[in-house]
Amino acid sequence: MNTISYHLQSIQARIVQICEQAGRSSDSVQLLAVSKTFGVEAIQEGIDAGQLAFGENYVAEGVSKIQHFMSQRGLLAWHMIGPIQSNKTRDVAQYFDWAHALDRLKIAQRLNEQRPDHLGALQVCIAVNVSGQASKSGIKPEEVMALAGAIAALPKLTLRGLMCIPEPADNLCDQRKPFALLRSLWEDLQKKGYPVDTLSMGMSDDLEAAILEGATIIRIGRGIFGARDYSHKKD
Ligand SMILES: *Cc1c(COP(=O)(O)O)cnc(C)c1O
Repeated sequence: MNTISYHLQSIQARIVQICEQAGRSSDSVQLLAVSKTFGVEAIQEGIDAGQLAFGENYVAEGVSKIQHFMSQRGLLAWHMIGPIQSNKTRDVAQYFDWAHALDRLKIAQRLNEQRPDHLGALQVCIAVNVSGQASKSGIKPEEVMALAGAIAALPKLTLRGLMCIPEPADNLCDQRKPFALLRSLWEDLQKKGYPVDTLSMGMSDDLEAAILEGATIIRIGRGIFGARDYSHKKD
């Protein structure tokens, strides 16, 4: 068995175990394999092991991989998990199935305008800064409701939920706090009638905490593909 398929199996086993502990069904948590910086060979190993959803952080890098796997397009799901700049929205709208880190209405409007008619709606989440001043990415918790309302009105986007990247913490209790905050913001949206079903939270080092707080998509890179090497990155 190759390493990637072995890692995928151990992450799946951890998901099952934590879900049991949390009293959740294990198919309520989707594993997104974050393949940024890794090549198409690594992704192919993932596909061979049954992994079909992949996350990318950099638009140009993601698009070239999506193009490589175009013949399997219907089988695979591609998630843009990084923040999106205005000049990259067209590629995201044309190639990706999901965008996890929306933090500006202007970007959402461009994605909506540029989403080709032959593709279904782009599935989106709003990125929220749940760690206070320490983190620069994502909107403030008090801004979520207004941005959700504006995005929900865009016909070619489907608002699925919220995502966050908290500051790293080294114990379970501190890891859970920002995830609990994201979950409560998500529940507020549901109470207002938004049909959101996605909490995109948890990475290699904090997936337990995220699942215990209700994550429905965990985004795992190093835990599947190993350490990243950024020395050749160009985007
Ligand atoms: C890189 C990245 C991940 C995966 O992180 P790992 O620590 O490698 O599991 C998840 N989410 C986002 C937004 C990322 O940029």
